[in-house]
Amino acid sequence: PKPSEITPAVRMKSYACQRRTPLKHHNSFLTDALEILAQNAEFSENEGRSVAFRRSASVLKALPHVVRSMDNLKDLPCLGEHSLRVIKALTNVFGVGVRTADRWFREGLRSPLDLIPTGQKLNHAQQAVEYYNDLNTPVTKKEAMVISDIVDKAVKAVLPGAIITLSGGFRRGKEVGHDVDFLITHPEEGAEERLMPKIVNWLDDQGLLLYQKTTRNSYLESKDGPARPASNMDRFERCFSIFKLEQLDSDIHAKASSYNSGKTAGMEERHTGSIWRAVRVDLVVSPYSQFAFATLGWTGSKLFERELRRWAGQEKGMSLSSHALYDSKQQRYLRANSEEEIFAHLGLEYIPPSERNA
Ligand code: ATP
Ligand code: MN
Ligand code: MN
Repeated sequence: PKPSEITPAVRMKSYACQRRTPLKHHNSFLTDALEILAQNAEFSENEGRSVAFRRSASVLKALPHVVRSMDNLKDLPCLGEHSLRVIKALTNVFGVGVRTADRWFREGLRSPLDLIPTGQKLNHAQQAVEYYNDLNTPVTKKEAMVISDIVDKAVKAVLPGAIITLSGGFRRGKEVGHDVDFLITHPEEGAEERLMPKIVNWLDDQGLLLYQKTTRNSYLESKDGPARPASNMDRFERCFSIFKLEQLDSDIHAKASSYNSGKTAGMEERHTGSIWRAVRVDLVVSPYSQFAFATLGWTGSKLFERELRRWAGQEKGMSLSSHALYDSKQQRYLRANSEEEIFAHLGLEYIPPSERNA
């Protein structure tokens, strides 16, 4: 090989705080993939696995060169078996260059996040790359509105009378987001139980899902009482999903560089009659009695939420979660039917969603 192609061995310290990690680095292709897997593990409440993926990603961020083969990873710390398999699958993609998404789709391959960790087949990894590319393209408000309509239709089809709220960044007025978040409830307490599988089946039957992972509600079984708010993860029934979103004509032209639109002239259009892209969607189902807390908790921003909890604990002797508000002095839960009431319980001036972009 030419001298420029020889990658020197890197001696890397094992703690992230011992090394320099720039924002712009050489391996975002791999670290994006690992961080999506980390997020997915977090959603399945597998914190150990999630941290393992994040540590691996962080090691790659600190590398002064692009990873081109498994040899480049020799002697690096924190790269577990699982992460190595993912990296192997993805590094194989380099140099292939042909976009065969249409073929994967005809083969019925749909779940990148399930498939990559096995790392067996090249085409699985390529499909994943395609998703990562899409998932790194910000979701526009317009796309969020299209998805809102779809979710609305799905939920109302399986549970008439249900209430659907757009939450997360779009509720705060953001123009773009990394995903679209929805909170779902029904005025009749209990009607919402085990609702998610029905919604997911409906969406799947319409061919609208590329991937989904549903987690059951574990609030009632959980042992953490008000005294120990174990983590800021809530316990609602929720679904981490990737929607297959049909592209609007205007968007296709705007995103001429994306992989999917590259298929416009090719096979994909002939086979499915449509052009689509992958979009991350979070769905959360809350009982009506907890809906105000869930709405407040899922509107964000993350820092705003953290600060609310800190205020509640340190200034008010209360414990706030996405499920409830507990007053330690009175030793009782405080009820609320709206976000305004929660702010009032906390002795705070009401701040509307558009001003929670802390
Ligand atoms: P973006 O535009 O990047 O999506 P966002 O503010 O919508 O920004 P999200 O990560 O979608 O960010 O989170 C939305 C809200 O949901 C945040 O307030 C966050 O605290 C809350 N949230 C996300 N995941 C969980 C979880 N597992 N448990 C409880 N709350 C969560
Ligand atoms: Mn969001
Ligand atoms: Mn989200």
